Amino acid sequence: MKIHNFSAGPGILPQEVMQKAAEACINFNDTGLSLLEMSHRSKAFEAVMHEAESLVRELLQVSEDYAVLFLSGGASSQFFMVPLNLLAPDQKAVYSDTGVWANKSIKEAKRYGQIEVIASSKDANYTFIPKEFDIPTDAKYFHITTNNTIYGTEYQHIPKSPVPLVADMSSNFMSRPVNVSDFDLIYAGAQKNVGPAGCTVVIVKKDILGKTGRDIPSMLDYRTHIPEISMYNTPPVFPIYVCMLTLRWIKSIGGLIPMEVRNIAKAKLLYDEIDRNPLFKGTTAVEDRSRMNVTFVTTREGIEGEFMTLAQSHGIDGIKGHRSVGGFRASIYNAMPQSSVQVLVDLMQEFEKSKG
Ligand SMILES: *Cc1c(COP(=O)(O)O)cnc(C)c1O
Repeated sequence: MKIHNFSAGPGILPQEVMQKAAEACINFNDTGLSLLEMSHRSKAFEAVMHEAESLVRELLQVSEDYAVLFLSGGASSQFFMVPLNLLAPDQKAVYSDTGVWANKSIKEAKRYGQIEVIASSKDANYTFIPKEFDIPTDAKYFHITTNNTIYGTEYQHIPKSPVPLVADMSSNFMSRPVNVSDFDLIYAGAQKNVGPAGCTVVIVKKDILGKTGRDIPSMLDYRTHIPEISMYNTPPVFPIYVCMLTLRWIKSIGGLIPMEVRNIAKAKLLYDEIDRNPLFKGTTAVEDRSRMNVTFVTTREGIEGEFMTLAQSHGIDGIKGHRSVGGFRASIYNAMPQSSVQVLVDLMQEFEKSKG
């Protein structure tokens, strides 16, 4: 049976990427060596590192004012690396609280400076993106989470900020074009949309660094990694290679504009069915709906388990909602084909008929 992978993360990757990654584990580019047993200082791997960086630059049109890094430690390590590198202890940073991940970033930042939460949708269980707030101009930066993986909300418009904007883009990175110059720092754990777990892409404006007066451990200082092209220490070679293959795949379909068109079409297909089908309803404000993580619940008591069983028997995998929202969450990242979304939609219609 074909499995349709709706997992929230690590998420689905293109089949052709997995095939090439598997080949590289045995014999990388006819070197006779596995990529797993090869020096990261080899010509063959240096070429991978360069191509990965240049694909990020090309797809997002990143200017030379920014460094593009591939670091380890997950997006969760950026929760503390950001304030450690950008904030002195007596300085202020402001955050938008849009869910679990935003909260974790706030918790870590509080160790390093004065943190103020200027917007929150917590009282509504994070079902919308707050849009009314004032950003104090004495803040060193404003932090947002562009897509809220657990709740299924996404900023459809990036707020204008008078202070440097920092974004956790883990779950919608490379799903749509973004204007990098609107941001001073972007980070994204790879495993939602661009690769396997184990590396995090960071795009940082170079001239904001080195101003805190802190003594930062070398590995946690962005400035260590910039001149070393992310190879100050042994980088996560295999995850970086798989990211490179995924970025090549995005380029091969024409880049982020066609990627966005596909993602809009997939999300519309599923949300239209959720809105039409009397047995289901969405959990978030319509204008803030995520194109990546579609959250919905059933409208009748006692039918949730039944739909889950039906879905599983048709190869639909990974749609159980996060425990803080319940119901269902269908993650439809870049590599999810529209045909798999159609299988889910067809089942929702079949379920409706079966219930009379
Ligand atoms: C998954 C996720 C994280 C955590 O990423 P790790 O790589 O596991 O640390 C952070 N932010 C968002 C928005 C996420 O979806």
